[in-house]
Amino acid sequence: MSIESKFRFTPIVKCVAFSCNLRCDYCFYFFDLRKRSIMSLPILEATIKESYLYNDGTVNFVWHGGEPLLASRNFFQSALNFQKKYNTDRRATINGIQTNGTILNEEWIKFFSDNNFQIGVSLDGPQEFHDYYRKYPDGSGSFRDVMRGIELFKKHNFPFGVVCVITDISVEHPEEIFKFFVENEIYCVKFSRLIYRDRSGKFLKPTVHPEKYGRFLLKLMDIWLIRDDPKIKFTPLSDFFRSLLQGECFEECLFSEACTRFLVVNANGDIFACSSEGSDERWKFGNIADGIAKVINSRQFKAYQDRIIETRKRCHFCQWYSVCKGGCTCDYELMSNGSEHNALCGSFKKIFQYAKNKLSEFKLI
Ligand code: SF4
Ligand code: SF4
Ligand code: SF4
Repeated sequence: MSIESKFRFTPIVKCVAFSCNLRCDYCFYFFDLRKRSIMSLPILEATIKESYLYNDGTVNFVWHGGEPLLASRNFFQSALNFQKKYNTDRRATINGIQTNGTILNEEWIKFFSDNNFQIGVSLDGPQEFHDYYRKYPDGSGSFRDVMRGIELFKKHNFPFGVVCVITDISVEHPEEIFKFFVENEIYCVKFSRLIYRDRSGKFLKPTVHPEKYGRFLLKLMDIWLIRDDPKIKFTPLSDFFRSLLQGECFEECLFSEACTRFLVVNANGDIFACSSEGSDERWKFGNIADGIAKVINSRQFKAYQDRIIETRKRCHFCQWYSVCKGGCTCDYELMSNGSEHNALCGSFKKIFQYAKNKLSEFKLI
């Protein structure tokens, strides 16, 4: 079987790479946000065509930005039309959008609802934490407008999720974060930690220290377990348990060792590794217009595959390897002073042990 026939591809489509109505202080596009770059229809078509070619089951499109809603409903209607054209064997298709939530309106909700989109809204918890970094160009906070967008989803009973970036400020406040989401009836939240680099790739101050993030997750897990409410779906907390119980966690990439599958397609069609956040030239694999076959046969893609194997060398001796699989490839450069090691490893070990003890307590393993 050739490498092409085995390869599966989940596109993270930066359909409006540098366009956004916000200027969040921690945005990794901060320096480029005035360049405005919206994906052209030929690049969109190539992305969709290749995605159906390199998937045999469900095809999952992750629409990102900048702010993807600035691409307009016409753009997404074109995407749906291309999906119809290339989904010749009628496979299940998921369209997920990650939006900052500030320009949502009734028309967008109707469009999402008519076309079964899955929506993630960026909301960093209570106003004081959210507005600290997530601002408009005039420096005012975006919290109120995001909450207005969320109220629209609630009004229409449209299911939505939230991505909450844990920052150097909020990492000290797991209780407040938990209380805020539950009190606002926001039950589906994915927590990710803030990683901020300058243009040379150097990590800057707001980057959350891995140990602090680990402590945050442990505390959050504690509160979540005490609350014991099946409505509350907090990621990655549930991933630790799912991975322990099933040995696999397909819903999220974190414990799946499948980083080569998730590729960023920039607005101009350039393809990057997910871990590069679309800008690290080391992990630029080619352009979607040249086809995925060329991308996965590129020298850079092979180097990235080797890197994933190399980074996990130490992991094979770890008792948690079957559930952790080495975690996220991004974390191998984070604060490691050049030594290749997963910065969250120590925290992961504690959390896996804690989750395992809980499962034993409830006689589930
Ligand atoms: S909403 Fe996203 S793309 Fe826009 S400035 Fe904030 S982090 Fe950057
Ligand atoms: S690099 Fe991290 S975020 Fe990207 S696919 Fe791998 S595990 Fe997921
Ligand atoms: S816990 Fe650490 S050593 Fe073990 S598999 Fe995960 S990253 Fe590797």
